[in-house]
Amino acid sequence: MTETPIRVRFAPSPTGMFHVGGARSALFNWAMARQQADGRFVLRIEDTDAARNRPEWTEGIIRALAWLGIHEDDPHFEGPYFQSAYAAKHRETAERLYKDGRAYYCDCTREQVQERRGNPHLGYDGFCRDRGLEPGPGRALRFRVPEGGPTVVDDQVRGRVEFEHSAIEDFVIARADGSPLFVLANVVDDVEMGINEVVRGEEHLSNTPKQQLLWEALGQTPPRWAHLPVIVNEKRQKLSKRRDKVALESYQDEGYLPEAMVNYLMLLGWSPGEDREILPWSEMEPLFRVSDVNSSSAFFDEKKLRAFNGEYIRALAPDDFVERCRPWLAPDRAPWPAANFDEGVFRAVAPLAQSRVAVLSEIVPNVDFLFLDTPVDDEKSWAKAMKPGVGAEMLSAALDRFADPGLPWAAEPLKAALEEVGAGLGLKLGKAQAPVRVAVTGRTVGLPLFESLELLGRDRVRGRLSAALARLEAADAASEG
Ligand code: GLU
Repeated sequence: MTETPIRVRFAPSPTGMFHVGGARSALFNWAMARQQADGRFVLRIEDTDAARNRPEWTEGIIRALAWLGIHEDDPHFEGPYFQSAYAAKHRETAERLYKDGRAYYCDCTREQVQERRGNPHLGYDGFCRDRGLEPGPGRALRFRVPEGGPTVVDDQVRGRVEFEHSAIEDFVIARADGSPLFVLANVVDDVEMGINEVVRGEEHLSNTPKQQLLWEALGQTPPRWAHLPVIVNEKRQKLSKRRDKVALESYQDEGYLPEAMVNYLMLLGWSPGEDREILPWSEMEPLFRVSDVNSSSAFFDEKKLRAFNGEYIRALAPDDFVERCRPWLAPDRAPWPAANFDEGVFRAVAPLAQSRVAVLSEIVPNVDFLFLDTPVDDEKSWAKAMKPGVGAEMLSAALDRFADPGLPWAAEPLKAALEEVGAGLGLKLGKAQAPVRVAVTGRTVGLPLFESLELLGRDRVRGRLSAALARLEAADAASEG
């Protein structure tokens, strides 16, 4: 017997920025589809909430998926389909359920239900179940939940979950205006698209018994379900777009590499085993099993993600690193005058930066001193490095020493020279180099100083030392005066 090929889907609603949780669901589904020659990953944009949808969110989803490596031109990819295109099918199905006696019309207002039940938290009481109402204005269509017995959801992550029918109200499947609810439209589309495995976030677990009942009422075999654990922040709170950084795009903007992001997201609830963590997609894809996903909540640890990213950055070929930095060096983004950028200098300094940055955007503060006319002015760094009795003394001594044409302008001799200058003032190298570093780069931390001096060149280094010295002297004069 040949097995039916797997058909999974990713069904985002385009109502906001693409969330890291959505990205994880998409990746898990993608791995499952790609494991089989005929496996399919269906992208369905659930765009029926016209008031909240925006076309740019849809474009953002497609772009984000491509960034993660889920490409429309891959043979495993199908779609995108748009839920709004299937409105007629949703209505037709609602009608069919009514005709089959699986659903009934109801004209109760929320107030009436509440008044009868005396508790706003209790669901619908089945008042219209046997009233035999015809369709008409103000009448919503409710699904007739079978009496007796539980619905058992056999979830690949959570195991067997029982939902007593007495606790499931006769839920609305179409509003009084005929428009279908999520719970119905989602099932109708899954049926139409031949979906046989549904892998989605845990927040949908409560919809699942209702949806399983709908599949059965439509004479269909329900899909295999899998509900992925919630993703939480360091306070164990569910990630929220109001509180936490959840938009995939913000990670992209900061300079996370897609391969690091993919690797990290795959570990949110799943593990490739043997304590392996850093593993490329090509190796994780065949290993992934949704049944191995853990049901306990997954901690989104940004620090760990950063560390992963740093590792991925260090593993890049040097030329690749340079290319990946490009967006941050572009004239519309970089803080220096575009004409100052020097490709040769950047290529020379890039390997020094590659081993230090954790996210690509950090390239800018590491190299800006090379391309800005004057280094950044950071008050804290300045105060820290330019201590009385050290700052002006070091700058002036270094200025003198660096003026010597006999001093070769290269990292090693520069280091020896500064060591010597420091020793003359009773300072160890660490202390001695701080004022020079801040005068030249604007910051107390950065790339190795002597390589930086070498790249910047004698004239510019001396110019910056003089400017910093003049600034210290002016401040002194002002405080004395
Ligand atoms: N549109 C739903 C959502 O974004 C899809 C839920 C599902 O995967 O079934 O939450």
